[in-house]
Amino acid sequence: MTLVEDKKLMDVLSNFRVKCKCGNTIVFVSNREKIICKRCSRYVYRNKKLEFKDKLERERRNGKRR
Ligand SMILES: [Zn+2]
Repeated sequence: MTLVEDKKLMDVLSNFRVKCKCGNTIVFVSNREKIICKRCSRYVYRNKKLEFKDKLERERRNGKRR
């Protein structure tokens, strides 16, 4: 990968925006999977797949707890 391509990729990542359920726009500054919304304090995920994966994992953990 050349430096130019690397820069382009960084631009794409830095411009990644997701709209929270509360209407607040979250900007993913790095390739983090989730960010806490400043307005409603809920997790906002990069995409639906990550949200689903995290939800499953949490449910599994809660299920184990007695
Ligand atoms: Zn929100």
